[in-house]
Amino acid sequence: MLNFLKWSIGAGALWLLTSAFVLQDEAETTETNKNRLKTVVIDAGHGGKDPGTRGLKYKEKDIALKIALLVGQKIADDFPELNVIYTRKTDKFVDLHVRSDIANRNKADLFISIHCNANLTKTIRGTETYTMGVHKSADNLAVAKRENDVIFQESNYKKNYKSTDLDSPLGQMMLATYQSAYMVNSVRLASKVERNFKRNTPLKSLGVKQAGFLVLWETAMPSILVETGFLSNPSEEIYLGSSEGQDTIAQAIAQAFASYKTDMER
Ligand SMILES: [Zn+2]
Repeated sequence: MLNFLKWSIGAGALWLLTSAFVLQDEAETTETNKNRLKTVVIDAGHGGKDPGTRGLKYKEKDIALKIALLVGQKIADDFPELNVIYTRKTDKFVDLHVRSDIANRNKADLFISIHCNANLTKTIRGTETYTMGVHKSADNLAVAKRENDVIFQESNYKKNYKSTDLDSPLGQMMLATYQSAYMVNSVRLASKVERNFKRNTPLKSLGVKQAGFLVLWETAMPSILVETGFLSNPSEEIYLGSSEGQDTIAQAIAQAFASYKTDMER
């Protein structure tokens, strides 16, 4: 009986000890999970009836899709536990507000929209990464206007976007305030993307910029829009259209994502 009692006390103590460890372990796991990035949404700009901008040979919608799929694939290869969601995987038209809906519905931790740029001055070249905010130059506003214009091809755009006068100071302020809670982290990721473009691609980095993009308007998470280069610049168009160029650009964005993920989970 005494032996049994000793055993019981011993086993009880062991159980208590084990439970304490389990509890501590669970607490640590919860702590780590809290910051872990679980879902990223990759958004290939344009598609279907909306070709985006055009170069001499290539359409923006096709290049954006190829780069977006490569970015998603590289991120999925690097982080198999991560949920990678695409707003489109084929050549189809998707309303801008549906793209942000997809990200919100899936409680994404990050939204990355991929595009190509255009300018009437054909010599202009390089990359720009945008976060939501009030534009500081007419050029930045022009980029946002070009990317927003697609809503006029959507049915019901007046209902879905509330205000159509987005170029007015009030419209711009309204756009900027929506994403302000995520501004710091959006800029953090945007800076990493531009730094990687500068270091690891032949493209010229034109830097991180702000403007009122409708696709970033209602996303409830850090969000960026990457202009991967100018289709209006003939030599940049050739690079953007090449599989080597697309792979190098996608690799730079995936590296920026990996670095951001490490920072956030620290
Ligand atoms: Zn675009």
